[in-house]
Amino acid sequence: MGFVPTMGALHQGHISLIEIAQKYADEVVVSIYVNPEQFAPDEDFEEYPRTLHDDLRKCEELGVSAVFAPTDEVMYGGESYLSIQIDRLNEYMDGGSRPGFFEGIALVVNKLFNIVRPDIAVFGQKDIQQFRILQQMVREFNHDVILKMGPIIRANDGLAISSRNSYLSDEQRKKAPGLYRALRYVKGQLLDGIKKPALLLDHQKSELEAKGFEVDYFNVYSFDRIKPVAELQRGRKYILGGAVYLGETRLIDNMIIKLEN
Ligand code: AMP
Repeated sequence: MGFVPTMGALHQGHISLIEIAQKYADEVVVSIYVNPEQFAPDEDFEEYPRTLHDDLRKCEELGVSAVFAPTDEVMYGGESYLSIQIDRLNEYMDGGSRPGFFEGIALVVNKLFNIVRPDIAVFGQKDIQQFRILQQMVREFNHDVILKMGPIIRANDGLAISSRNSYLSDEQRKKAPGLYRALRYVKGQLLDGIKKPALLLDHQKSELEAKGFEVDYFNVYSFDRIKPVAELQRGRKYILGGAVYLGETRLIDNMIIKLEN
C-alpha cells in the first residue's frame, strides 16, 4: 500500500506524488488533513484553502483507492499527555523560522503512519527538510515504511506549485518565480566550481530584496544535518534552499546540489 499525506487543495505537485505511489504500490491511500498542530497562532490555519469536494473528485479520477480525511476529533480527540521533540535537523531553514512546525508534522505523520499502515509513503522535495526529518523519524521510531521523495513540480515560469500560491495577487504572482531564478543561478555557479558561496548568496539575497522579496533564508545546507555550509566538498549532497515573503505569503523552494567526485 502506498500513501500520500496532504493538506488538500490538491494540485499537480500532489498528483505527481500519487502517480509515483501508484508505480510502487497496488493500492494508494491519500490523506487530506489540515493539521492544526503545525500552524503557529499567527499563521494561516484559518485561511488555508479547503476544497474537499474537488479533491475527492481528483482522487477518484486518478484511481486512488481510499481517501482518509479525518476530523480534528479523530486525530486529536481526548487528552494528550505526550509530545514529540526534535533535537536536531530543525535548527535552520523552516525549522529555524517556524518553532514547533516540524514537531507538529512529525506528530501527525507518526499518527497517520500508525492509522494507515502503508508500505511506502511519498513526500515532495518541495519540503525537503520535512523529508529529511521524517526519514530520521522512520529510522529512530522503527516505522515499517519506505519513504520516497518526488521531484518539485513547477509552473511554466518555474514557480514551485503550492496551495499557498492562491494567496498571491497578480502582481506578486508575476514576481514569484524570482526565487526559483535566484536558486537556479546559484546552482549553476556552484556546479561551475564556486566552493565558498557566501558572497554569491549575499548578492542574490540583495537582488531578491531589491525586487520586493523579504528573504527569510537563502543558503546552502548539508543534506544529512541540515546545517549551513561555508565550503562545499566534492561527493557530498547539499540543499540550496530559500524562503521568502511576498507580502504576507511565504514561498519556499530548493534544489539539491551534488558535486561529482
Ligand atoms: P501539503 O499539502 O502542502 O502539505 O503537501 C503534501 C505533499 O505534497 C508534501 O509531501 C509536499 O512536499 C508535496 N508537494 C507540495 N507541493 C509540491 C510540488 N510543487 N511538487 C512536488 N511535491 C509537492
